[in-house]
Amino acid sequence: MIVILEPDLSDQGTAVAAVGAVAARYPGVTVKPYEFRGVRHRFAEVHLLGPTANVPAAPFESLPGVRQVVRVSAKYRVIGRHDPAHETVGFEHNGVRVGDGEVHVFAGLCAVDTREHVDAVMAALAREGVVTTRMGAYKPRSSPYDFQGLGRECLPWVFEAAGRHGIKLIAMEATDASHLDEIAEALESAGQPTGVMIQVGTRNAQNYELLKQIGRRHEFPVLFKRGMGISLEESLNACEYVASEGNPRILFCLRGVKTHLGDPHRNLVDFAHVPVVRRQTRLPVCVDPSHSVGGRMTAPDGLPDIFHVAGQGVAAGAAAVLVDFHPRPEAALCDAAQALTLDLLQPLLEHVRLMREAYERAVAAFSHREGRPASA
Ligand code: PEP
Ligand code: MN
Repeated sequence: MIVILEPDLSDQGTAVAAVGAVAARYPGVTVKPYEFRGVRHRFAEVHLLGPTANVPAAPFESLPGVRQVVRVSAKYRVIGRHDPAHETVGFEHNGVRVGDGEVHVFAGLCAVDTREHVDAVMAALAREGVVTTRMGAYKPRSSPYDFQGLGRECLPWVFEAAGRHGIKLIAMEATDASHLDEIAEALESAGQPTGVMIQVGTRNAQNYELLKQIGRRHEFPVLFKRGMGISLEESLNACEYVASEGNPRILFCLRGVKTHLGDPHRNLVDFAHVPVVRRQTRLPVCVDPSHSVGGRMTAPDGLPDIFHVAGQGVAAGAAAVLVDFHPRPEAALCDAAQALTLDLLQPLLEHVRLMREAYERAVAAFSHREGRPASA
């Protein structure tokens, strides 16, 4: 059972305490409050845990500040969309609003290699007015003999360059909980010049201890990459691990699933799940066309497959695109085949803009037909 409080309550603490006092009347029932800071509103929910089947809703509904009481049979207690009318999708971090109102392109290096490459990518982003990037410092690799990333060593100059170029949010994978401390320390020593969103890689989608530890670090939003060989339900449960530990600021990323049926693409593109994730959860959805497609090949119409696939995700309502770029792909130490060259940055941004416009127009046209208010 979930008691949802009114948004932006000035005396939220009192309302949460009142719910706790009523819940205490029922033996074995415990409460766990969660606070959500969405793009537009802040609100709290109090989750009642334990034997709640016979707990009545009425005593909670009549409390001041309570908006709604919902019984959740659904397994996604925290990330689930329990109240469709309630705007809860997304979060704000370091001034960047990640949510359903716009599309952010996190373009950058799969793996940080040199200062010059970091600088070239960030300068190109700054020229286009992009404040979001990806910079892999800790790389999970299939072979132990492959480049494993520069790790903590590169953090000071990556963060310094981000500050210099006005980059506000960097998606960066952590493969161990100790990396969160290293990232937090480096940000602190550099004077917090940028923000970091912690990426959970596809290989760690079921590393429950890591998920719990990341969930306890409330200072970082999370970019969760769908497990490549597990069901969508299992991936959403993994997000529930992060969220139930107290960190619901999650951007859910589709990145393709592993099967030879996707050949010749690296993975089978799974962006048809964008509307599914948006319906079942209140998480904004990201798509990663680079790891889905895995190469720079182009279609007969001249567009790279990566553009086509990114467009499919955006046209389906994605709020973000994660994409690999490299100033010299031939020199990239990780995923060289799929890195786009920087001359393709502006065309990709334009493609995303066009696809987003098409999406918004499609939603408006359909809702008009149905007589429903348009809501992208
Ligand atoms: C990445 O984004 O660099 C990455 C390793 O992706 P994935 O975990 O989806 O393979
Ligand atoms: Mn990669």
